[in-house]
Amino acid sequence: MKNQTITKIAVLTSGGDSPGMNAAIRAVVRACAFYEVACFGVYRGFQGLIEGDFKELGPRDVKYTISKGGTMLKTARSKDFMSEEGRKKAFEQIQKQGIQALIVIGGDGSFTGAYRFSREFNFPVIGVPGTIDNDIYGTSHTIGFDTALNTVIEVVDKIRDTATSHKRMFFVEVMGRDAGHIALNAGIGAGAEEILIPEEDIGLPKLLEKLKRSKASGKSSCIVLVSEGDKIGKNVFELSEYVQENLPEYDVRVSVLGHLQRGGSPTCFDRVLASRLGVKAVELLLQNKEGVMVGLQNQQVVTVPLEKAIKGSSAIDEELIRISDILSI
Ligand code: ATP
Repeated sequence: MKNQTITKIAVLTSGGDSPGMNAAIRAVVRACAFYEVACFGVYRGFQGLIEGDFKELGPRDVKYTISKGGTMLKTARSKDFMSEEGRKKAFEQIQKQGIQALIVIGGDGSFTGAYRFSREFNFPVIGVPGTIDNDIYGTSHTIGFDTALNTVIEVVDKIRDTATSHKRMFFVEVMGRDAGHIALNAGIGAGAEEILIPEEDIGLPKLLEKLKRSKASGKSSCIVLVSEGDKIGKNVFELSEYVQENLPEYDVRVSVLGHLQRGGSPTCFDRVLASRLGVKAVELLLQNKEGVMVGLQNQQVVTVPLEKAIKGSSAIDEELIRISDILSI
């Protein structure tokens, strides 16, 4: 399939949705139109690829989508694509439609599937990082991360209003099973007193000590931002019960932000990022480059081999942990 002039590209979104995915689809569709390449949207991620759920998209089909959250192509977690048989069916559908390259917008799971597919069938694939978790190696930002951060700080600011009025402590759980990027960045942005992330287990005694110190310093409220995957307590409710028992002077409450972090209109940052990465993905394919993820490093669009993006981990910024410790005095 490789090294032929590309005239037909397909694009899909896969895994968890993130704000800005529509802006990325729009950029791919319009760049294809600009370079006079046919563009097919695949509905429901890899599952739609297996079932041949494709539709040709022109530049007007993506109008008014740049400001919309979610993904107009829908997304899915496809069990069938995990098997060789499923991927073979997907390849047959692609051949039937005459598609010569695939752009996958999603997280590391989606990139793993895309990479396997490209190796098995010698098929050109480009990855565009779309996930709110920012947990992909090789890019400083994934599409949707900035919007999720802004959503979290808006909500935490509101929780702070009521926490201060009642002199309460709130444990606020945010998304991030394996990575604490949302908790750490939004925690600093919202002025959280403590931030608990999967990458660092400070231990319960130290947490209690820090919370006592915070109370003694005259603070009238306390916000602890907790990543879903933090290692210190079993879950945010058990954690808050433990703190309530050991620090009875506090009135402790819990708020789990959940899926609202995935939705909403993307920020300007995410729209611009998605636009840059979507256009670059198409241009790379037209230059016969493939097997890479497009990402952002030092504000520049870069390419990273898909294999590296999958295998590497996105380390937490230790400097941010230090900043948070200083500012929570
Ligand atoms: P997010 O991090 O936002 O959840 P993700 O892309 O990591 O996004 P996953 O559910 O891990 O989401 O993966 C999406 C889909 O990619 C899976 O449902 C499956 O179809 C495909 N996929 C994941 N891992 C593999 C794999 N090892 N082999 C083949 N396909 C895979």
